[in-house]
Amino acid sequence: IQWEKQVRASAQIHRNNGMSVLVTGAAGFVGTHVSMALRKRGDGVVGIDNFNSYYDVSLKKARRSLLAASHGVFVVEGDINDAKLLAKLFDVVAFTHVMHLAAQAGVRYAMENPHSYVHSNIAGLVTLLEACKSANPQPAVVWASSSSVYGLNVDVPFSESDRTDQPASLYAATKKAGEEITHTYNHIYGLSITGLRFFTVYGPWGRPDMAYFSFTRNILQGKPITIYRGKNRVDLARDFTYIDDIVKGCLGSLDTSGHSTGSGGKKRGPAPYRIFNLGNTSPVTVPVLVSILEKHLKVKAKKNFVDMPGNGDVPFTHANITLSRREFGYKPTTDLQTGLKKFVKWYLSYYGYNHGKGKL
Ligand code: NAD
Repeated sequence: IQWEKQVRASAQIHRNNGMSVLVTGAAGFVGTHVSMALRKRGDGVVGIDNFNSYYDVSLKKARRSLLAASHGVFVVEGDINDAKLLAKLFDVVAFTHVMHLAAQAGVRYAMENPHSYVHSNIAGLVTLLEACKSANPQPAVVWASSSSVYGLNVDVPFSESDRTDQPASLYAATKKAGEEITHTYNHIYGLSITGLRFFTVYGPWGRPDMAYFSFTRNILQGKPITIYRGKNRVDLARDFTYIDDIVKGCLGSLDTSGHSTGSGGKKRGPAPYRIFNLGNTSPVTVPVLVSILEKHLKVKAKKNFVDMPGNGDVPFTHANITLSRREFGYKPTTDLQTGLKKFVKWYLSYYGYNHGKGKL
């Protein structure tokens, strides 16, 4: 009963024509920011997260506390593979939208634990889609695919219509599979589906397994950092995209996602199936990323350059965002200098560093 009360309160809508959104992976990096932004503008938000130990669980718990304390968002502790739990949630709340961000992320970890990708990104996705299919009303689904689906041998910038048949990692393969699986649920069961191909998202409350985060940690601790280089010692480059820009893209795609129409789309015609790039359109090499971090941290990095070991990384990413701009006015506004400054400021205060002079 207490649980139900918390879920209902969290799902309460505080604006006209607002939405009630189930956010999966709500204690994750992107999930926390999207949940906050939805709640701030008056939408109802209920989160679900399994708090797995892929990275620092205390960071996930701190994000949950932030959501609860400052925004009244309740995050249910549970797995998206738990069909009963999902059915119960859809029973308590008539969610209009699902923002599906729960996943096993990271390309290199797939070498160690391939099955965690199948568990969350394939089996979990299907369980969630089944729950959406059976819900009344059926929600519109917006979910995180990844720029990694472009894999190898695609010319930059990447457009949504480019080939995605050469994933370079198991992670990428599960995201590509997710695009096919969601497409099936769209045309068979009339679910409105939007897939968002995020490009290397960074910012405050970010993911400790990502390079910009672990570089910051190592630089502050005086430990060396490893910088991968591609063939012929070419620097890797990424289309680093600031979290606030990604959040705007998520909200824009939720706002334009249209309705699920049920099997056959008899009532309102076929449900939409859409895929969009959400990137920054200005790739930066990893050594340049490091030099920006050095500047903001006021500490020099100890750099080890090594050849890319061929375990899932691609040499470069670069988004073409014409489609998302046209569809919902997506326009990234934060450059890497500015975004990393905000990340470093958050990092220093979260971990109690005195501007790189050691722990407070
Ligand atoms: P994250 O790991 O911080 O967030 C994912 C959250 O999902 C975690 O809190 C985790 O505990 C939860 N989760 C995982 N499996 C679950 C399950 N089976 N049931 C319930 N909860 C589960 O990652 P993020 O960076 O916030 O990424 C969000 C989404 O965006 C993911 O789908 C990711 O693949 C995708 N994506 C992220 C990036 C990026 O650069 N951050 C780039 C491309 C795509």
